[in-house]
Amino acid sequence: MKTSLSSGIKGLVHLIFPDLCMSCDQDTPVEDGIFCIKCLASLPFTHHEYEPENSFTKHFKSRFPIVSGGALFYLSRGSGIERMLHRLKYGNRPDIGYKLGMFYGGYLKEIERYSNLDAIIPVPLHLKKFVKRGYNQSEQFAKGIGKAIDVPVRTDLLKRIRFTQTQTKMSRSERIRNTSMAFGASEQLKEKAHRILLVDDVLTTGATFEGCIQAVLLQNSQTEIHLITIAMGHNL
Ligand SMILES: [Zn+2]
Repeated sequence: MKTSLSSGIKGLVHLIFPDLCMSCDQDTPVEDGIFCIKCLASLPFTHHEYEPENSFTKHFKSRFPIVSGGALFYLSRGSGIERMLHRLKYGNRPDIGYKLGMFYGGYLKEIERYSNLDAIIPVPLHLKKFVKRGYNQSEQFAKGIGKAIDVPVRTDLLKRIRFTQTQTKMSRSERIRNTSMAFGASEQLKEKAHRILLVDDVLTTGATFEGCIQAVLLQNSQTEIHLITIAMGHNL
């Protein structure tokens, strides 16, 4: 109760004082409503979209046949990006996800490999968390990208099929085991979505994406899979 009350208050404060940069919280953002000029010049962009082989894809390519992957930002502890992500997830601010999606989509629409996608699929949040938070932050990010690159967002093609325990204290192998059976792809995926973009908020161990990729390939092993997140850790 305390959490939802405090996030409600934060949401209210945002309604009254909406116009501060989401990274530094000090200056007025430029037109897109996300970052101020100072932050835009110093944000830790990965530029993965211009590099088909990168630190993000390296993480998956030896094990999964993904076509491409990338994050918008590098994530480091105590950074403006970390504060922004925290607010997106816990501060009742779904608009941050949508605006970031529009922002990134502006870059992605210039790139050939994103021009013929059939669907953008956000990593589904478990119903319990969805009810508590009121939105899926990855879906908000996906919707912004979808709007910018004109590709439909489909939340019906991939579902959570069992609740995964909180993963923060698990080892990497425990996380993979915990997540590998957590997702199921619908038959519609095989019929209607051959080229998909899977979207999540943050790449940490990659276990969540791995669970999703396994579910997708089990339904259709020919699916072309692209991955995108808002941020990824430096040390992956
Ligand atoms: Zn700023």
